[in-house]
Amino acid sequence: KQQMARGLPKHKPVSGVEHVIVVASGKGGVGKSTTAVNLALGLLANDPSRSVGLLDADVYGPSVHKLMNLQGHPELSDKNLMIPLRNYGVPCMSMGFLVEDTSPIVWRGLMVMSAVERLLRQVDWGSLDYLVVDMPPGTGDVQLSITQNIPIAGAVIVSTPQDIALLDARRGAEMFKKVNVPVLGLVQNMSVFQCPKCLHQTHIFGSDGARQLADTLGVELLGDIPLHLNIRETSDRGQPVVVSSPDSPEAEAYRKLASAV
Ligand code: ADP
Repeated sequence: KQQMARGLPKHKPVSGVEHVIVVASGKGGVGKSTTAVNLALGLLANDPSRSVGLLDADVYGPSVHKLMNLQGHPELSDKNLMIPLRNYGVPCMSMGFLVEDTSPIVWRGLMVMSAVERLLRQVDWGSLDYLVVDMPPGTGDVQLSITQNIPIAGAVIVSTPQDIALLDARRGAEMFKKVNVPVLGLVQNMSVFQCPKCLHQTHIFGSDGARQLADTLGVELLGDIPLHLNIRETSDRGQPVVVSSPDSPEAEAYRKLASAV
């Protein structure tokens, strides 16, 4: 069935891209973009001979440009394609390069779709082993249309262990199943907080919810990322933890996730 879905003409591959991995979440604020960025960097850290790209398809709230410390506008190639901006060895495209940070993105429907289409296809990606796509949160038209228009190797769903986030994550997983996109598994984010002073561990959002959901859905728990100040601070600085503190346990957690994907 999956083969059939991928073979349909509407699943037109993205030129030069071998595997598309989408990073999704049921709701906002669970750490989807942070995971997408560190996953892309983790894929590269695990095997520097790979080529990995990053696409911010979260058109309403793009953040990849900030997380990757990139600004400016993409230049055009001879073929009139946008040349991705690049940092830490990863070519990136984001709505954040095309609109000002302060301008509200009020586009709807078709405009958003054509923006995503442009970000995917009117880009000179070169040749990529992996394109990691930071999806918008939820299960709306944009998500559905991306899953229907390009062949996707698999989806990674990010959730906190909290009940409500889990419920939304389940909806996400079901959407991917419906459109025959393999769900590679769940990532439990912000699972445990360890006090830097006394080293006591607290499960702020509950302890093991994503693991239970993964079992219920019959998918793998790909990773377990702690709630850590270093992750937030390095993200805010535009120096993701995988590149700025490669020896930390947090970076190790993302590299582990990248090898599970
Ligand atoms: P989403 O893309 O799901 O909206 P973000 O990746 O933008 O979420 O993360 C929301 C906020 O939480 C950001 O400030 C980010 O730095 C922070 N954050 C995400 N994951 C972690 C983590 N594991 N530990 C600490 N802070 C995190």
